[in-house]
Amino acid sequence: MIETKEKRREWKDQHRYNSFNSYKGLTWFESHYKPIAAWFKGEGKLPTPIELSLDPAHICNFKCGHCNAQRYLIINPEEVPRDKKIMTKEHLENLIDFCSDWGVRGVCIGGGGEPLMNKNVWELPSYIAKKGMKPSYATNGSLINEQIAEEMMNCRWVGVSLDSGTREVFDKVHGVDYFDKVVNNLKSLVKKKNETGSKIDIAYKFLIRPDNWQDLETACKLAKDIGVRDFHARPVDLERKDFESAMKLNYDIESIQELFYKCHQIEEGDKFRVFTIMHKYDPNFRVQHTFKKCASSSLMLQACADGNVYVCADHRIEERFKLCSHYPNPKEIADFWGSDKHRDLLKSINVDKECGRCTYGEYARQIEELAMNSNEEDCMCLGFP
Ligand code: SF4
Repeated sequence: MIETKEKRREWKDQHRYNSFNSYKGLTWFESHYKPIAAWFKGEGKLPTPIELSLDPAHICNFKCGHCNAQRYLIINPEEVPRDKKIMTKEHLENLIDFCSDWGVRGVCIGGGGEPLMNKNVWELPSYIAKKGMKPSYATNGSLINEQIAEEMMNCRWVGVSLDSGTREVFDKVHGVDYFDKVVNNLKSLVKKKNETGSKIDIAYKFLIRPDNWQDLETACKLAKDIGVRDFHARPVDLERKDFESAMKLNYDIESIQELFYKCHQIEEGDKFRVFTIMHKYDPNFRVQHTFKKCASSSLMLQACADGNVYVCADHRIEERFKLCSHYPNPKEIADFWGSDKHRDLLKSINVDKECGRCTYGEYARQIEELAMNSNEEDCMCLGFP
């Protein structure tokens, strides 16, 4: 009999200072939480976002039923339409230059689309690193080649979404027969890391759906065999407000937690770590809102390939959530950021009615509880260790 505490374990104690632990938000208390709360009240300046979430291409070579971008994606286009579905190299560099000067710290090259479908990003990690920011990639892994692998060594992390541990489940989840290709690409990425001594964290990612969770343990073992450092599993978001064909949520939570437990038994010290993320969901893996205001969206900047900036990654390409344009001149962002219009838009968002899963929901809760709603000026006695 496995103890409930063990089944709910998200990471080993020795790995609790990790990228997925939302308590890292507290390190931004002075730099961001307090100024964001003040700005919401009409006082002071909105700080520069911490991260640029960059979608360089709204096209893809996979057909995933759970994709959060299917509303606007083009799958395998013979010819890329010229309606800004792809960012040019010149504009990408302009955007990176602007963000670097502005004080943004990290850039996640991802999507809304498979980023590597846009060749203009293949050499972007070294460009970002030279500008003093930390690059990262979220990719389906199918297009990684020698040149891309070499460039990825500049990244802080690369996450590859397999969402399965077998060819059969991979095909079902992604709608394409690329399992062997992605596994081999991941192996070559690990080989490159070992050859170069790069500090990059490589993660095998698993979004849990009602039809793939049985593969969790097999996938975790495969991840360890491949030699990646991290295995990361969390429920997929099937409750988005824009998602018409949402799959029925029929998770067998008890069995999934037992598989999580088994995955944690596969861990091996610092060499192979397992993260099974549950704290952002309710006990049935459903979306929960533990906050009322859209306060955490200002921690990141969501730039899409259509030339616009949106409130957040969960509302890409939605007119209602559009902030401003970044094309052709990214400096427009600085004019809009922190303006009355920006504040009015964030204040008008009804989180329960308009939002499904909020990627930065835990940070929104922290901002509200610590910086907005607390009656005490210094509830954590920050002058004392
Ligand atoms: S999901 Fe909603 S609450 Fe969360 S950042 Fe986006 S708009 Fe704001």
